[in-house]
Amino acid sequence: MSKAAVISKLRELKLNTEGSTEILRKRLKNHYRKQKLTNANLLTVSKLFPYYVIVDFEATCEEVNAPNYPHEIIEFPAVLVDTEKQKVLDHFQAYCRPVLNPTLSDFCVELTGITQDQVESASLFPEVLANFEAWLAKHKLGTKHKYAVVTDGPWDMGRFLYGQCKISEISYPQFGKKWVNIRKVFSNFYRCKRFCLKLMLEHIEMIFEGRPHCGLDDARNIARILLRMVKDGASIQYNERIHLTSRDAKNIQNAANRICHNCDS
Ligand code: AMP
Ligand code: MG
Repeated sequence: MSKAAVISKLRELKLNTEGSTEILRKRLKNHYRKQKLTNANLLTVSKLFPYYVIVDFEATCEEVNAPNYPHEIIEFPAVLVDTEKQKVLDHFQAYCRPVLNPTLSDFCVELTGITQDQVESASLFPEVLANFEAWLAKHKLGTKHKYAVVTDGPWDMGRFLYGQCKISEISYPQFGKKWVNIRKVFSNFYRCKRFCLKLMLEHIEMIFEGRPHCGLDDARNIARILLRMVKDGASIQYNERIHLTSRDAKNIQNAANRICHNCDS
C-alpha cells in the first residue's frame, strides 16, 4: 500500500495521519488488529453480559396517580437477548389478576390496551412470578449463563416489583436486586439527555414498533435499543440496585410466618 493510500484510509477511519510511512502503516495495522480482537472478544472488551432479559411491567393506574397509589402489576413481559448472536432469542408474557383494585380504570385500559377480561382470567402475581423464574431456569439464566435484567428507568423494580411483592406478601426476588437502567446507559454513551423510550429510538433514527404501553412491545423496543448499543460498542453493566431495609426484611419474615400459619390451619 502506498503512503497516499495509507493516509487516505487513516483519514477515512478518523485516525491521525501524521508520521513516517512506517508509523502510518503500523497505525493502520494496529487498528485492524484491535478491531479483529474487539469482534472476537466482544463480551470482554465491551463489558457486556452474554444475555440480557428486558422487563417492562404494566400496572393498574388512574389518570392521576396519588403518590401512595398501590400499583399492581397486570402484565409481566420479558425479552431475552443473546449478546454474541446479537438477536432476540425468546420472550415471556403473562397477565396478572390485581386484587386491591380488581377493576381496571378506563384510563388504564386505554393506556395499556389490557382488557378487564384478560386480567380476570389471569393468574395471581405470585404464580406468574414463579412461571417467569421457571422460564429463566429453562434458559439456564443465573445458573450456567450470566445475565442482567434491563429496564427503562428505575420504576419497574423500585416501584412496581417492590410494591407488588409487598401487596402479595412474598420475598423480593433475587433477579430484581441489581439491574441495568438503559436510560442511564444510553445518555452516558451517546452523550445526550435522559430520554424516554420514544425519544431514545428517535435519537438513533428508529421508530417505535408495535403499541406503546403494551409491556411486551415496550420490552421489544428496549431490546432494539440495547442491540444497537451493543453494535456501537457500549458497555452495558449494572447501574441500579435496590436497598432492602431491615424493616422490609421483617415484613417479609412476618408475611412468611403468616403463610406458615395458613399452611398449618
Ligand atoms: P410504561 O412502561 O410507560 O408503559 O408504564 C408502566 C406503567 O406506568 C403503566 O402500566 C401505568 O401503570 C403507569 N403509567 C405510565 N404512563 C402513565 C400515565 N401517563 N398516567 C398514569 N400512569 C401511567
Ligand atoms: Mg411499558
